[in-house]
Amino acid sequence: MSSQLSKPSGIQSRTLSCTFCDCLLTERVLALQTYPSEGTTVPAGIPDDGGLTLCPECASEVIELLTSWHPHGEPRIRADATIGDAYAEAAANCSFCTNSFDDSGLGVELYRRVGNELPAYANYTLCEHCQSVFGEFLQTIATQSHP
Ligand SMILES: [Zn+2]
Ligand SMILES: [Zn+2]
Repeated sequence: MSSQLSKPSGIQSRTLSCTFCDCLLTERVLALQTYPSEGTTVPAGIPDDGGLTLCPECASEVIELLTSWHPHGEPRIRADATIGDAYAEAAANCSFCTNSFDDSGLGVELYRRVGNELPAYANYTLCEHCQSVFGEFLQTIATQSHP
């Protein structure tokens, strides 16, 4: 069995602090995991492991952004492709700008939410352009969180 098949256990596997402001996290956490496909990398603003755990304060603007995204069906994870490729296959169009894209999608898995604005679990895929927009957006919030 390939280790690629095991999904990251996310929140249990990392220290329970906010990615942006380093405060200790409570039950109320926004948690995302990103999966770059073959042709792309984790955008700036997202830690190298691709995971984000945010306290409610840092999460508020991210939640606002995510509510405008369009989730797609769950990707079919296969042994012979990366999780990111499975996301790109599952998505016909970018979850943000809704333009169609080729094979350089970035999968985004939402698995913990704060409040009820977002679904409890959702899958998104971003085109190359929106990946960099998303990365810059996150960098701005991270900077604001470290005065
Ligand atoms: Zn925070
Ligand atoms: Zn897009």
